[in-house]
Amino acid sequence: MSARPNSLAARDGAYHFHGYTNALKNEQEGGFVVTRGDGPFIYTEEGKEYFDGLSGLWCCALGFGPQPRLIEAARRQMEILPYYHTFTQKVATPTVELAEKLVGLAPVPMSKAYFCNSGSEANDTAIKMVWYFNNALGRPQKKKIIARNKAYHGVTIASGSLTGLPAVHADFDLPVPGILRTDCPHHYRFAEPGESEADFATRCAENLEKLILAEGPETIAAMFAEPVQGAGGVIIPPATYWAKVMPILRKYEILLVADEVICGFGRTGNWWGSQTYGMTPDLVTSAKQLSAGQAPIAAILINQPVYETLRDHSNRLGSFAHGLTYSGHPLAAAVALETLRIYEDLDIVARVRALAPHFARGMQAFAGHPLVGEVRQIGLVGAIELVRDKASHASFDSKLAVGPNLVRIAHDHGLIVRPVVDSICFCPPLVSTEQQLDEMFARFGKALEETHAWLRREGQV
Ligand code: PMP
Repeated sequence: MSARPNSLAARDGAYHFHGYTNALKNEQEGGFVVTRGDGPFIYTEEGKEYFDGLSGLWCCALGFGPQPRLIEAARRQMEILPYYHTFTQKVATPTVELAEKLVGLAPVPMSKAYFCNSGSEANDTAIKMVWYFNNALGRPQKKKIIARNKAYHGVTIASGSLTGLPAVHADFDLPVPGILRTDCPHHYRFAEPGESEADFATRCAENLEKLILAEGPETIAAMFAEPVQGAGGVIIPPATYWAKVMPILRKYEILLVADEVICGFGRTGNWWGSQTYGMTPDLVTSAKQLSAGQAPIAAILINQPVYETLRDHSNRLGSFAHGLTYSGHPLAAAVALETLRIYEDLDIVARVRALAPHFARGMQAFAGHPLVGEVRQIGLVGAIELVRDKASHASFDSKLAVGPNLVRIAHDHGLIVRPVVDSICFCPPLVSTEQQLDEMFARFGKALEETHAWLRREGQV
């Protein structure tokens, strides 16, 4: 299949090098050009409709239609003051208001907000903050960072090193030194036969402590962790996991950085995933739904003890010599501030909690299907994991690319979902209706049936 000459698709193939894309295929076939949106639906140049079951990249909480309040907030800010920066004490109005608002919404008492433009930048900045923190405290050897297998923290040199997905490292010369890797708390995949969720959580915590002791607690600065691991395949930890991990981090003075880039702003049925799991982070990184995906902005929330240490050390050095041209950009800040007001006016957390049981029922309806090994979800995020053998949890041969093939078939049925190997991820807009979710699952059901028929023809099931 190749694009019509001179179509946007063909021009994209000619001129645009995409991330996370097979570049040769894009040159040959052209790009998939999205020209407009409406609720959870997007439309192509040719007018074909798709349900975007991943809210873009887990970010478009309000869907893809025009949001009059965000348009107005952006327009007003462009009229009043299109740019100002945040160096040398300068700041624009919405940036101040957004910082105040975020500190007020924080999952645990926080002191300050620091702004970046993306989740990767926020995590890179948080790494620099914890290094600086330990230098300030006269512990220059306390620098290693713990992250988990299947974590996703971004793609820049440091955040990409934290990411625990081999494809993000391969041939990019990552990870950099000083990153420690611990268990992914996915019971279905990694528990021993017969091991309960609680025992598995205990074992993950014990392995974490063993790692800390083997490396030396005096060498470890922080653990970065998503409350629910998103891009690793929507991995929902055992209920007791965080209660077991938190005291170990405290015991060895290891800071917890909660990466709330996906979970923040209602996704798990609370404002923050940290609240869903009883995490008490020292720093929180957030992005994506912070602006409903409508402006590039990220925020780090910093607690009082860490902030005071950063403040006093930077005072000795002259200033905190880290900042971005677009940190707290007024246009993005105005859009984010209005997004948070919309969430409050919609009572977004209550809405997610009201819709979550319907989402869960829709997901669990596939649990009995012969190809489905595990269905997992919390709030409005989840995954359906496909297996060759339900009893043993054995996966399909990776050469079959079952997950990616299902997603391709789903695409033909007007549904966009994400495969992580053979786990199919769902993260619909928070404002979806029950009927819209039913439509999403109906399209998925057709794709699942066709995938099953294909695997039967191939003699794989
Ligand atoms: N952290 C998490 C949990 C994420 O899911 C992502 C993006 N998927 C990032 C960080 C990186 O964010 P960005 O793509 O904005 O750099």
